[in-house]
Amino acid sequence: MTSTALTNALTIDVEDYFQVSAFAPHINRLEWNSRECRVERNVDRILGMLSEHGAKATFFTLGWIAERYPNIVKRIVDEGHELASHGYGHERASDQTEEVFFSDIQLAKFILEDLSGVAVKGYRAPSFSIGTGNLWAFDCLQRAGYEYSSSVYPIQHDHYGMPDSPRFAYQVRDKLLEIPVTTLRVLNRNLPSSGGGYFRLFPYSLSRWMLGKVNSGDRESAIFYFHPWEIDTEQPRIPGISRKTRFRHYVNIDRMEARLNRLLKDFKWGRMDEIFLNPRAASVAQC
Ligand SMILES: [Zn+2]
Repeated sequence: MTSTALTNALTIDVEDYFQVSAFAPHINRLEWNSRECRVERNVDRILGMLSEHGAKATFFTLGWIAERYPNIVKRIVDEGHELASHGYGHERASDQTEEVFFSDIQLAKFILEDLSGVAVKGYRAPSFSIGTGNLWAFDCLQRAGYEYSSSVYPIQHDHYGMPDSPRFAYQVRDKLLEIPVTTLRVLNRNLPSSGGGYFRLFPYSLSRWMLGKVNSGDRESAIFYFHPWEIDTEQPRIPGISRKTRFRHYVNIDRMEARLNRLLKDFKWGRMDEIFLNPRAASVAQC
């Protein structure tokens, strides 16, 4: 890492292992209250890693979690990280009506601001669930007072994605910036380069190369994301899930923490708001 390196945005979607969208058909939401919660200790470990590396990050936090674990919110803010919203109840935006979506994002913003005393500017939709079928979600976000969203993944995927949308930050509404998670353009295709299951699946050297290419080739800051449950090898296993879901959720979980430590060392990391909500000219595009 050189001192002139671009700062990339490190983002953590704060939810527990049983709230993952792919498990929704197997875990009734009414069971959430009786599940063993592991998110607090996992967030503590992440905060420790960030502190060791002197890195700052943005935590897209569920209202449901914040309400039950206010200490998580307090620690995130006290340690200089950005508190942002992942909505209240982790339902895909694409499965909600406009009214229900608006209530969800408004409630989450209220809870997070009430607990922290800081303004919550950013939002990330569960499972990157803003796409061509629900662009009204951007109107709702602006109306609820959010300043940016990081909810679009410009790739082809079976559960999400808007492959033709811009790859970098753009003004999606008058007062709302969309900051898509990072892809690398190779042979007219966008390759996922920003974390999650792909980061666990690909060799670390490939992930590092892709992020480096975005910095050096596109001259843009990358956005990387992961979840607290991705460093938790002891999390209870969910029975009855398909082979594909099992693979996606658990692949290389035992290697994740070591990889994250390398990533924290190899790049310069910061908060979304500090990187993107400055006067920097974002390309103007409406969709
Ligand atoms: Zn999520």
